Amino acid sequence: MKKDDCIFCKLANGEIPTNTIYEDDDFRVFLDAAPATKGHCLIVPKEHFDNLEQLDDAVGAKVFPLARKMMKLLKEKLHWDGFNVVQNNGELAGQTVFHFHTHLIPRYEGDGQNFNMKSTSPAEGELAGVLNEIVS
Ligand code: AMP
Ligand code: ZN
Repeated sequence: MKKDDCIFCKLANGEIPTNTIYEDDDFRVFLDAAPATKGHCLIVPKEHFDNLEQLDDAVGAKVFPLARKMMKLLKEKLHWDGFNVVQNNGELAGQTVFHFHTHLIPRYEGDGQNFNMKSTSPAEGELAGVLNEIVS
């Protein structure tokens, strides 16, 4: 299903032109308009899902195989040195377009980007408490 007022529905389905590097029945992969690095692109399903929580399992199962295919293409063409796969859900987590999408971000020596998370040092027993909250 498409959503009428969704820009990524229009981009993924070709109603608005994109810099497309790949397309099949389920997805369009196009260059991000404000790229973090050279070749930064987005895997966008043609069907509308707000986020990963709402994503259909059958569509979701195709995302990582497609990400690997695009990684290989970008390696061959752009010769990246590293690669980040980023997927944001919810405004707090940095999602700005509320149609599920996956960022593919080739990394290069000296590109000035940093997607590393900040580690913390949990207090004694803290992880056990969290584990208990999750699995009990
Ligand atoms: P996120 O913050 O994870 O929701 O990512 C949204 C991404 O979509 C950002 O990196 C934007 O630069 C990108 N974006 C927004 N509008 C367009 C557009 N019309 N064409 C290509 N990329 C877009
Ligand atoms: Zn949409």
